[in-house]
Amino acid sequence: MTDPKLDEVLNRLDADLPNAIDRLMAFVRIPSISTDPAHDGDVFDAATWLTDQLREVGFAAEIRETEGHPMVVAHSPEDAEKTLLFYGHYDVQPVDPLNLWDNPPFEPRIEDTPDGPIIRGRGTSDDKGQLMTFVEACRAWKAVHGELPRGLTLLFEGEEESGSPSLVPFLEANRDELSQSLALICDTGRAADGRPAIATQLRGLLGEEIVVRGADRDLHSGSFGGLAANPIQILCNALSTLKDENGRITLPDFYDGVEDLSDDLRRDWEALKFDASEFLSRVGLKQPIGEKGRTGLEMVWNQPTAEINGISGGYTGDGFKTVLPAEARAKVSFRLTGTQDPVKIRAAFRDHVARFVPTDCTVEFHEHGGSPAAVMDTSDPAFAAAKQALGEEWDREAVFIGMGGSIPIAGDFKRILGMDTILVGFAKDDDRIHSPNEKYDVESFAKGARSWARILAKLR
Ligand SMILES: [Zn+2]
Repeated sequence: MTDPKLDEVLNRLDADLPNAIDRLMAFVRIPSISTDPAHDGDVFDAATWLTDQLREVGFAAEIRETEGHPMVVAHSPEDAEKTLLFYGHYDVQPVDPLNLWDNPPFEPRIEDTPDGPIIRGRGTSDDKGQLMTFVEACRAWKAVHGELPRGLTLLFEGEEESGSPSLVPFLEANRDELSQSLALICDTGRAADGRPAIATQLRGLLGEEIVVRGADRDLHSGSFGGLAANPIQILCNALSTLKDENGRITLPDFYDGVEDLSDDLRRDWEALKFDASEFLSRVGLKQPIGEKGRTGLEMVWNQPTAEINGISGGYTGDGFKTVLPAEARAKVSFRLTGTQDPVKIRAAFRDHVARFVPTDCTVEFHEHGGSPAAVMDTSDPAFAAAKQALGEEWDREAVFIGMGGSIPIAGDFKRILGMDTILVGFAKDDDRIHSPNEKYDVESFAKGARSWARILAKLR
């Protein structure tokens, strides 16, 4: 099925690629490191540069102040009641250690590699190169047809790499302006085998810190051992019973809201041929643990977890000290999936631990964040349309994937703005984002822009 209007846009993108790469290089030359106050001016310069680009394309774009680094917000001139909201970030990670870079991080250059040409420099992949794929697609639509295929709102953040402190207040203050039918984010990667992917579910996260206290001082294990409560033992008993012998988490009603994979997702994930042993071998392991009967990808994308992240107490210095410690501490986190409720799970976890604490001891809990999973409603036809568009560009069927971690912005869009997000990115596993020698393949950049042109054509 050909679309002559789209073909003209794709041809334009191909012809304009050298200029698009020049523009990306200019963007990368601005060292917009958001976490370092010494670069505040550079972050502002990057916002200004991006705003100018968007105006050149034909958007009504402006810099919007926040308590921290500014947002860039742009609206297409096309009249539309509901538009699509595109999000990216123009700030970058710090660059040290500098001596591990082959070329200065803010002097980008093109290198030929056995896998094709790449653009090397900080931010080429995360996220300047990725966000520019979308801007270039818009530029080509506008240049060829004089208008964008549909109404668009663009939101660019300058604090993504430093914790996004201004994002939630900004979304809340501008809810009407930013609530659109659907969000698009370009800050993720392709599947490990290089095929295009749309991330449709991201796990949530819940953190708890536990402090168990026993006697009012450390005790001699000869005088008190066998008689007095030992807080480390109490903690171990509570934590060791969080999972049963099959790897299932034992908290009551813990699995409420956890969905088994749909047939479609199961097929997509099987096509990725994920090898759990090989994956583990990269970190010096080989034996998958976890719930029996589940595939590796199910365990990292679709199943919840309970993990002990830290534990301390008693004497661990040199030599030996036969002590019953007065207190013991642990940090435990849960990755959540489906519609699991962090509030209920926190309560169930606290009840569970409390049951192991004798009446003459105490337990104290400190919460460290709690956000549910973000699961997109892929029955929205936009998902199938985007998947098909990606497949046509890359000549390989695109896949819906999960993500073991979270991308807080996708959850924020859902919670604050009430919309789902199509997470499409073209980065590769070896792009070295956040590390020295970050790069973005010219193929990722060129076909990324073409992918967005196709997606916009389908979402017209
Ligand atoms: Zn990023």
